[in-house]
Amino acid sequence: MKKIVLATKNKDKVNEIKSIFAEFPAEILSLADFSELPDAVENGKTFAENATIKAKFYSDKLKLACLADDSGLEVDALGGMPGVYSARFAGYHADDTTNNKKLIDELNKINVETSKADYKCALSFIDTDGTEIQTFGTVEGVIKKIPQGNGGFGYDPYFYVEDSKTMAQLTPEEKNSISHRGAAARKMLAILKERLT
Ligand code: IMP
Repeated sequence: MKKIVLATKNKDKVNEIKSIFAEFPAEILSLADFSELPDAVENGKTFAENATIKAKFYSDKLKLACLADDSGLEVDALGGMPGVYSARFAGYHADDTTNNKKLIDELNKINVETSKADYKCALSFIDTDGTEIQTFGTVEGVIKKIPQGNGGFGYDPYFYVEDSKTMAQLTPEEKNSISHRGAAARKMLAILKERLT
């Protein structure tokens, strides 16, 4: 059976993508299934570039087909920030808590209460013969300063998908059905089904 490695160290991303690929006839692995691997240098200017960098880096190292996600939050009032810097918005050692604090601090600095925002996701699949396939997904929402919910990860408690419901208040299935990653993963699944089955 073909092996596909989800080329990310983010457990939440692995769970979200794995559940969409649950029925796919391939062995879906993640970087956690291999002994400690270095981090890819994500110096691309777009989600698409960074997804390619990660997929290529790990497929070169592992000699296996790899699927990488690069994703992030773009806030209109912040001119599209944090964008490709979403994971390290609050600095090199940032985590979800410090990134969310930085998000609210930046909105406070410019006296903004709420802002339209979107999550974007680029997925890059690199096969063992070097073929690359990319898919994309976007979900629109609103950033509000009052967090709600314990589900999801990252900026989800501040990302309102409805007037009074955040991404962090959705079940994993509900999140996958509307999310940027879910959309990109379903498109990828359809293409890989054609290619590999
Ligand atoms: P990456 O691992 O370099 O792609 O960075 C992704 C970062 O974007 C994460 O660490 C989060 O801060 C943010 N992000 C991406 N997808 C999501 C999501 O589904 N929910 C919340 N935050 C997300």
